This record gives sequence, C-alpha cells and structure tokens, in this order.
Amino acid sequence: MSDCIFCKIVAKEIPGETVYEDDQVLAIKDINPQAPVHLLLITKKHITSLNEVSSEDEGLMGHILMLAQKLAQKFGVAESGYRVVTNIGKEGGQAVPHLHFHVLGGKALGVHID
Ligand code: C5P
Repeated sequence: MSDCIFCKIVAKEIPGETVYEDDQVLAIKDINPQAPVHLLLITKKHITSLNEVSSEDEGLMGHILMLAQKLAQKFGVAESGYRVVTNIGKEGGQAVPHLHFHVLGGKALGVHID
C-alpha cells in the first residue's frame, strides 16, 4: 500500500533499524522502545491486522512466531522471559494498520492491559 509507513520501511523508502530480514518478514527495532528489547516483526505482505489474516497466511504466521522465539534468544531475553504482542484495531491500540508483532523484554513487564 502506497501510504503505509510499514510498507515504506519494508521497501527501504524510509529507514528502519533492521535486525533481521528474509523474503517474508522484516524485523526492526521499535523507534520508541517500551522496554530494553523492543522489536517489531513486520510482514512484508501488506495485511492490515490479524483480523485480515487468511488460511493462505498460516505458514507466515508460524514463521513469524518462530522468528520471535529466535530473536528473543538472539537478543538475550529468552531465558528471563519476554512478551509477543500484536495489537488489532482501534480498541486494541493498533496505531499502524499493517500487521506486526512486538517482541518486548529485558525488564519485568507489567501485567496491566490498559
Ligand atoms: O501496535 P502499534 O500499531 O500500536 O505499534 C506501532 C509501533 O510502531 C509503535 O511501537 C511505534 O513506536 C512503532 N513505529 C516504529 N517506526 C515508525 C513508526 C512506528 O518503530 N516509523
């Protein structure tokens, strides 16, 4: 999508601090980190949110969760614990309408949901 900020980051039209890339996913450091480790795993395919994922994306969803596990290991938070989150829609707190998973860790994360 031409006006999508994450599509632009995927296309390298605007910068992102890339930590991993393959043909399906780009992982970057969040520009406004909420924890010492705060990564965004962005699908290269434009999908608005988890709501728009279809059966053809099942492999991609498995791939991105396995990647979350691998990057948690790489960034040293696998043992201490971390969180994988995807926000969906307005009340889900989704600011960027392009599917992405946050990987957060490196401190004791709160349990509040609002
Ligand atoms: O899940 P949600 O859509 O709210 O998260 C969007 C995330 O994308 C925010 O954490 C924001 O800091 C991040 N972001 C970024 N680089 C941008 C724009 C947004 O890392 N250029």
